[in-house]
Amino acid sequence: MSLNATATDDLPRISFEFFPPKNPDAEEQLFKAVKVLAAYRPDFVSVTYGAGASSRTPTFATVRRMLAETDLVVASHLTVVKSTRAEVDEVIGQFREMGVSRFVALRGDPPGGIGTAYTPFPGGYANAAALVQGLRGIDDFDISVSAYPEKHPESADRAADIAMLKLKADNGANRALTQFFFDNDVFEDYLNAVRAAGVSIPVVPGIMPIQNIKQLKNFAALCGASIPAAVEARFAGLDDDPAGRFEVAADIAAEQVMDLRRRGLTDFHFYTMNRSKLMSAVLERIGFSALSSVS
Ligand code: FAD
Repeated sequence: MSLNATATDDLPRISFEFFPPKNPDAEEQLFKAVKVLAAYRPDFVSVTYGAGASSRTPTFATVRRMLAETDLVVASHLTVVKSTRAEVDEVIGQFREMGVSRFVALRGDPPGGIGTAYTPFPGGYANAAALVQGLRGIDDFDISVSAYPEKHPESADRAADIAMLKLKADNGANRALTQFFFDNDVFEDYLNAVRAAGVSIPVVPGIMPIQNIKQLKNFAALCGASIPAAVEARFAGLDDDPAGRFEVAADIAAEQVMDLRRRGLTDFHFYTMNRSKLMSAVLERIGFSALSSVS
């Protein structure tokens, strides 16, 4: 069964997500990771964006340095939170001047935090679908949007969630990148519902290698993503064994990708958490080699 467009290679197409570092040490760690992971030849990398036009500064700086120091294709995330349409359009123009032609177009979390009500900013883009339309009106950008295999926490139900995805696709999105998930049956069921609703853009699984199961449990609960008991159980007894946790985490992500490959998926978006070691271990397990990938 082929659920997405087919890749031509034996290896899947991959992309990596990074976030802007908060201090100089974090920046060095990020760029070390970027350079290691660049050797796996991702299709593109992306840099996240915060809420409000002031978020442009750290994202600009990170994107600019990636463009200057690597030959990676860099996509910037954009959100519409706390910004007028003119402000967002100005940010888009500045990224374009920098040479960015790919965006991940998002609404963003409510200013009051996840779980509070979202109210569109006066004079701003109402939601991610409106932002996609705005981007399309500016240039022929490559546009990714979000998708939620387990439903976005604010969506009334899965149908409402998929209706928003359809609107984003109809407005010109090229692909959707999903929130992370760990149950491939849930993803496949979601993807079938997406296709049944008439959405034909690629839906790229978002894969989160588990750096820290305890932290991830708290974060996942906020995002409406679940961690199956069977996944959590594999970390049992490893509290004092970082090397053991590392192996388990790499195995889990690699097994998930290989199973999705068997189900016909060809593209994968990885949440790197700005680290390369675990990410590299996952990639090596699924058949990538940094050496051969640069040859
Ligand atoms: P949308 O696609 O507009 O909406 C998501 C769902 O929520 C829809 O399906 C819709 O049904 C429902 N919904 C939306 N608005 C309402 C409403 N007012 N009432 C009821 N239901 C509603 N956040 C950042 O801040 N910066 C980032 O860089 C970033 N990158 C991300 C990358 C990916 C791949 C993903 C999956 C998420 C990312 N996020 C990021 C998180 C995202 O901003 C939040 O999940 C946010 O709450 C929704 O933004 P969206 O674009 O997904 O929203």
